[in-house]
Amino acid sequence: MSQKPPRDRGTFAPRIPAGIISVKELRNLIDVVESEGAENVKFSGETVFVWGEGEHPPENIAELSGKEGIDFKFGGVRPVKLCSAETFCQRFQRPVRDLALELDKRYYGRQINAKLVIGVAGCQRSCSEPGIKDVGVRAHPKGYEILVGGCAGLKPRIAWSLCIVPTKERVLEIVDAIVDYSERNCKRSYRLGVTVEKRGIDAFKEEVLA
Ligand code: SF4
Repeated sequence: MSQKPPRDRGTFAPRIPAGIISVKELRNLIDVVESEGAENVKFSGETVFVWGEGEHPPENIAELSGKEGIDFKFGGVRPVKLCSAETFCQRFQRPVRDLALELDKRYYGRQINAKLVIGVAGCQRSCSEPGIKDVGVRAHPKGYEILVGGCAGLKPRIAWSLCIVPTKERVLEIVDAIVDYSERNCKRSYRLGVTVEKRGIDAFKEEVLA
């Protein structure tokens, strides 16, 4: 059920060209919004890059920062991409933040042969682009629509709309089955959409919707 915030709720999104900001500016920005009462911020992506190739962060930076670093090795499940969702967008159809966090907790880092990206959106406008993710979940008037087989990259693909399910629990069951299918069947260098196409979408549906 929708839990929409009041209509007069505002959002401030500081413009950060190309998403790059100096550490000093970022600290100042955080100080200002915190002193004005802000409690949360949301990155429009799920990744913050610090230090570039050829530079050398301290070996214990994860311990110092209290944050594990994202591992960009080939294949595996990447961090879940979430739209602004109910916390920062009044247009959401249903709350999806907790669902996205649960999906990230369950699957981020799962080592499968292919790269697998999951995108979650709070309405059909699809700001987190679930239609070009290996697995997309977007809120729908009747529940949650699950999309599968999309990707960007060298050979972009639009996802199939797999089904619309009424509950988050059913979303988790189906995504679980899709990740298991990927683990069993995806080959290195082939994204899920290619594998599903080769093995047949009907066979895929039978396996993951059983
Ligand atoms: S997908 Fe919908 S809920 Fe999410 S940020 Fe876009 S408009 Fe808002």
